[in-house]
Amino acid sequence: MSGRCCDFPTSGHQLWATDLESAHALRKAGGDVPEAPSGLCPWHVEGTCRLRDGRPLGCRLYFCDPAWTDLMPQVYERFHAELKALHVEAGLSYSYRRFVEAVRDPALLPSPPTNS
Ligand code: SF4
Repeated sequence: MSGRCCDFPTSGHQLWATDLESAHALRKAGGDVPEAPSGLCPWHVEGTCRLRDGRPLGCRLYFCDPAWTDLMPQVYERFHAELKALHVEAGLSYSYRRFVEAVRDPALLPSPPTNS
């Protein structure tokens, strides 16, 4: 909730997402990608997330509590495997890229299923 983890240039974090997640984020945002300083998530505004419903898995699982540090990769891998399976199920090619770059290049993203 502090928003510090979303400030990539300052925190040094990188957010990676499948193209299906990035396409879903774009759809939830109405196709609009706000302007933002280089490297910063376009939905990180005044320290808060303006894309709560469309944020990718990494945003949903990241928590800066040291007690969560060891478990977080295991949980991420479990749900990331489910995301990969969704690509196969939908007949989409799988790609995993930096989220900020992916949403700024929507021509490369698949059309997500319409029932979410
Ligand atoms: S989508 Fe939201 S939670 Fe994820 S990096 Fe951007 S501002 Fe942060």
